[in-house]
Amino acid sequence: MNSAYPIAVIPGDGIGPEVVAAELKVLEATGVPFEFTTYPAGDTCEAETGRALPEETLQAALASKAVIFGAAGNTAADVILRLRVELGAFANVRPTRAFPGVACLFPQTDLVIVRENSECLYAGIENTIVPGVVTATRVITERASYRIARYAFQYARDNRRSKVTTVHKANVLRKSDGLFLRCCRQVADEFSDLAFEEGLVDSVAMRMVLSPEDFDVIVTTNLFGDILSDLAAGLVGGLGLCPSANLGDHHALFEPVHGTAPRIAGKGLANPAAAIMCGAMLLRYLGRIEAADSVDKALVRCIEKGRTTYDLGGGLSTMEMAEHVVREMQRSS
Ligand code: ATP
Repeated sequence: MNSAYPIAVIPGDGIGPEVVAAELKVLEATGVPFEFTTYPAGDTCEAETGRALPEETLQAALASKAVIFGAAGNTAADVILRLRVELGAFANVRPTRAFPGVACLFPQTDLVIVRENSECLYAGIENTIVPGVVTATRVITERASYRIARYAFQYARDNRRSKVTTVHKANVLRKSDGLFLRCCRQVADEFSDLAFEEGLVDSVAMRMVLSPEDFDVIVTTNLFGDILSDLAAGLVGGLGLCPSANLGDHHALFEPVHGTAPRIAGKGLANPAAAIMCGAMLLRYLGRIEAADSVDKALVRCIEKGRTTYDLGGGLSTMEMAEHVVREMQRSS
């Protein structure tokens, strides 16, 4: 049976629609049958309809096989944070690797950050105790900690990675990160084929800058994962090269790590590489490994040859770069 995968496409704001159009162009060229349907969300949608995430868009995301997302601006919390919650997407997976042809300090960098997506300080529980005193509650639960640890170890095993590093601050946050660390240690015992390492977030941040090649899969809580994954993006040449997947038991949403980049929006300048890599991650999620490999390899060849947008030193527009990726795919098929 070869029925088309129903995919909800939410391009959003800024450069979102441009990079998503490039991603769809590449996905269509793989020959994998997709049925893409576009839905509104984000700042423009809110301005036009009064809702940043219309009910129809949410229901379509829930009913689809997967969601392709671009970027949302000021309404990001109402759109992407809500989508992650509604889709039960508890794992945020952010692969970061260096590309031949892109200037970077550590060409050996090839790591994956698995970030817990549902709790920590991002639970959004803030209170004004008295005027001038505000608290933010950091929520860490055993259930979510086991779940993300298991996900990270299984991901490492499935993707032939050899080591998992858990990143925490349990020497200070003794109860919350103490619990997270205990869960990771227990799960590590179930995966004796993988090396396991523990690191304090401050020391890991330094080590990532000095020797990122020491890291393979990193599993961590929401806030630390957010910060470390942008740091990782900086190591390999910037946000235009970093894809991410939000994965749960029943749903998946793929989005570039970058945001709306309003200064370059609408000019055809946005680098589509992160979005195209999101497309490859979607193909892997669907079990279309050959097609995913073909997209990844074609993108690497394109970047190697300097067929890139301005941020990587090339002169191509967003769509021209996607067309080059398609040509590379066809050349090697
Ligand atoms: P937002 O408020 O939506 O997060 P932002 O511009 O503050 O938008 P990003 O979109 O993450 O944050 O981008 C930060 C900068 O990185 C941009 O100004 C742009 O120069 C660069 N950038 C991000 N994504 C890309 C891309 N795909 N191609 C080229 N440059 C990019």
